[in-house]
Amino acid sequence: MSGLMAGKRGLIMGLANDKSLAWGIAKKLADEGAELAFSYQGEALKRRVEPLAAELGSDFTFDCDVSDMAALDRAFETLKARWDTIDFVVHAIGFSDKNELRGKYVDTSLDNFLMTMNISAYSLVAVAQRASAMMPPLQEDGSGGGSILTLTYYGAEKVIPHYNVMGVAKAALETSVKYLANDLGPRGIRVNAISAGPIKTLAASGIGDFRYILKWNEYNSPLRRNVTIEDVGGSGLYFLSDLSSGVTGETHHVDAGYHVVGMKQEDAPDI
Ligand code: NAD
Repeated sequence: MSGLMAGKRGLIMGLANDKSLAWGIAKKLADEGAELAFSYQGEALKRRVEPLAAELGSDFTFDCDVSDMAALDRAFETLKARWDTIDFVVHAIGFSDKNELRGKYVDTSLDNFLMTMNISAYSLVAVAQRASAMMPPLQEDGSGGGSILTLTYYGAEKVIPHYNVMGVAKAALETSVKYLANDLGPRGIRVNAISAGPIKTLAASGIGDFRYILKWNEYNSPLRRNVTIEDVGGSGLYFLSDLSSGVTGETHHVDAGYHVVGMKQEDAPDI
């Protein structure tokens, strides 16, 4: 198999259906010759993930709830039983109680704060510990090491109504990317994030007034459109391939340029 990802294999975490950001990334990786394994959360998603994995030539899928450290250990043991090493991991996971993804951040409960932080931010650290142990040692010719990619959102940087505790968790996630990049850099392991613009997915449907956010971004971003999972997939391919060999600790916006705009566009219609 030829292609940018020929000879590379890795784990995709966070595929729920064909609208998932993880699906946009997985498709681009498979097109370029990557060999993929998929972890899903619970039996209900197994039925959705298996046929999608098969579409990309993979029969390697297994359960993994990232809030359960024993489950994470089991998942990586399953991975290790079939593959000695991996070259990359996609962490496309976030979760919060949707009752707290509306209204005000000031009303966040301790339980949901801790759960959101655990699943949406700490899980990257837990995954990086286990994934980095499976990445090949860095060689003198620069081969070896690996690439870890997570997904974040602009609500980490600026207040987005209703994003609330998820914004705080994404800020922790983005800072984790920097610390993990620094810790794992000497081993040739790169850690980066894509900050994606709003896209209609299962997770996004839990965010209050998401349709308003989509319209606002479409009317006010420099490209005057929303991004797609294919846009995210293209940038994902860059981060997981050797094209980005000198890049780590980065949060890269794939948001049609929305993050550079400071005011409503003059031509933006009322929503
Ligand atoms: P999605 O619903 O398709 O994917 C979210 C995934 O998280 C699901 O597969 C779900 O099973 C998984 N998940 C949740 N809790 C888990 C747990 N405890 N253990 C294992 N997996 C768990 O939605 P998506 O929008 O593709 O989300 C993927 C990532 O992209 C998330 O981190 C999200 O915050 C981020 N993101 C999404 C958008 C957007 O607008 N959709 C924008 C920027 C960033």
